[in-house]
Amino acid sequence: MAISLLPDYVFDDYHSVTPDFLHAHGIRLLLCDLDYTLAPKRQAEPDAALLAWVASLQSGGVTPEIVSNNRSPARVERFCRNLGIGYTGHAGKPGTRGLLEAMRKHGASPSETAMLGDKLLTDVLGARRGNVLMLMVEPKGGPFGAWNHVLHAMQEPFKRACARDGRSAGRGGTQ
Ligand SMILES: [Mg+2]
Repeated sequence: MAISLLPDYVFDDYHSVTPDFLHAHGIRLLLCDLDYTLAPKRQAEPDAALLAWVASLQSGGVTPEIVSNNRSPARVERFCRNLGIGYTGHAGKPGTRGLLEAMRKHGASPSETAMLGDKLLTDVLGARRGNVLMLMVEPKGGPFGAWNHVLHAMQEPFKRACARDGRSAGRGGTQ
């Protein structure tokens, strides 16, 4: 069976993903890519805006967890320690190992889980294969380097085909 590469929703920034939006979709576990989703790769520490967003999710009853392919466990471990949330490193997206491990860790089913990420061939494909709601964001800080400019240009048609910022109905949407 063919697997779709369309995200369910596209957001300009992670800030726009709110507990109310997630509740409306039955989501209580938000698996977050790290690099270019929550912070540019060069940013070593979470900033105040990210800390506030994570706190708002947690107080709203949503558990955030980092699921990263980053090959530097030191970066992910340090970032998450300062952010105060758990992580699954070497997640192997678009394989589902990391997603399944994170869902098992938090006792959440795929229907209670969403993936937040910036890349089509890792985050979106992994979410599709794991059967979780996919929320795509524009790359935080903009695409970095020639290859990422090409990659993000290639992603544009897929993003344009999806609901924007939760304001209109997406494939899995109810709003
Ligand atoms: Mg990323």
